[in-house]
Amino acid sequence: MSDNVTILDHPLLKHKISRLRDENTSTNEFRSLIEEIAMLMGYEALRDLPTKEIEIKTPIETCMTPVLAGKKLAVVPILRAGLGMVSGILALVPSARVGHIGMYRDEETHEPHEYYCKLPSPIEERTIVVVDPMLATGGSGVDAVNLIKERGGKNIKFMCIIAAPEGIKRFTEAHPDVQLYVGQLDRCLNENAYICPGLGDAGDRIFGTK
Ligand code: URA
Repeated sequence: MSDNVTILDHPLLKHKISRLRDENTSTNEFRSLIEEIAMLMGYEALRDLPTKEIEIKTPIETCMTPVLAGKKLAVVPILRAGLGMVSGILALVPSARVGHIGMYRDEETHEPHEYYCKLPSPIEERTIVVVDPMLATGGSGVDAVNLIKERGGKNIKFMCIIAAPEGIKRFTEAHPDVQLYVGQLDRCLNENAYICPGLGDAGDRIFGTK
């Protein structure tokens, strides 16, 4: 596995991802789980955020103590399933800005097409966390990061809850400079480019559209 891939390994995460997979998990629970998983993954993915020391007066004495410093954060969900992960990251960093990238999959070729891109500016000064629950072929992830780079984004991380080996390969080859965080690595893609065993269509399950 390439150096820029982190496959997270925590019993809480594993348990919650198993709950997501269950076809009997309700829309309500599914949505909450996606949010909780995004928060747990975000905690790990943001462990290198820079801090600076400031002076604080406690009820006992004055001390120097660390707070977040430097680059501001932008969360960028890939529409539509990525939207489900935004609140989990915002729970950790409420001041983060939110961009959006809209992609749809061609039903026949399974290739992604962009239909919307709005990013907070100046994007080049921010740490950017792109979120999409499923990294399947890797096509939309690669294109989303291309769009962000074209607009000046530099410090980019990508978080997905479940990835297929095919998606990881394509993504890391295209963007070796982007740190990829994966909740669970699955077996393969099927003929419709769904991840096996996966969890089905993440967008439909988050929004209850099926
Ligand atoms: N998108 C999904 O929502 N699920 C998959 O299995 C693959 C892509």
